Amino acid sequence: MNFEEFKIHEIRGYIQSMYLVEYTDKLLLLDSGTKLDVKLVREFIEKDLQREFSDLKLVLISHAHPDHSGGAAYFQKLGIAIAGPHNINDWYKGLSGLITYNVDIFLLYMVWSKVKTKASRFQSVYFPRHLKLDYKLYDLDKIPGFEDWQALHTDGHTESDLSFYNGDNKFIYIADNIVRNRKGFLSPYPVVFPEKYRDSLRRYLKMQIQFFAIAHYGIHQISKDEIHKVMDKSGDKPRRHRTSLGKILFSMLFRKSRKKLKSK
Ligand SMILES: [Zn+2]
Repeated sequence: MNFEEFKIHEIRGYIQSMYLVEYTDKLLLLDSGTKLDVKLVREFIEKDLQREFSDLKLVLISHAHPDHSGGAAYFQKLGIAIAGPHNINDWYKGLSGLITYNVDIFLLYMVWSKVKTKASRFQSVYFPRHLKLDYKLYDLDKIPGFEDWQALHTDGHTESDLSFYNGDNKFIYIADNIVRNRKGFLSPYPVVFPEKYRDSLRRYLKMQIQFFAIAHYGIHQISKDEIHKVMDKSGDKPRRHRTSLGKILFSMLFRKSRKKLKSK
């Protein structure tokens, strides 16, 4: 997608999309993807764009999930700065954080089993649970080196979620805050703070947004009506691992056995 000052490239990663913002003199990556996606992004920059990898000046992280922050430490090892929510490390902290971390990785593989292509292999996506951010981002902060972009706290999906907004072009990257399947737009799993989540969607409604980039997948023009529908359907109760994982596993097994019965 082309804008006056930059182009935006959607890079399809292991289970999610990342968005590379290409300026003539620098590159910005919206979400790191999993650790497996670092190589993919590097190849895209060097082969498809025919540019130096070091043109990538910053990797932004929207939230702690493995498909959004898993690659960050590996970009950093390659000399690229990383920036994300100031409190990102709270999500995987301590014993409950360790459990959440493993469940999040398990869920990543569940998504992978649904979306994988023939070329995609089962590989480890384990990554450091603690990130040393080069820049901690707070609500309304301008993005260092990319002052036309702004971080907005839009929490609820996890404890701490950022969206990245470019007001000049009415473009926003909202990560998982709205996802899309064959039926249309819907709220993500988990939603740990339903009220905060709805406030985040309300925040989008109040803003001038023409283009929503979502991690699963694509850039869309999402109408206010559609956002209201997502909000209405998302419900009042938290959907988190403690309360929902059993149901998810049950429906997965049930679906599999139903498929087997059908194929007999
Ligand atoms: Zn997520």
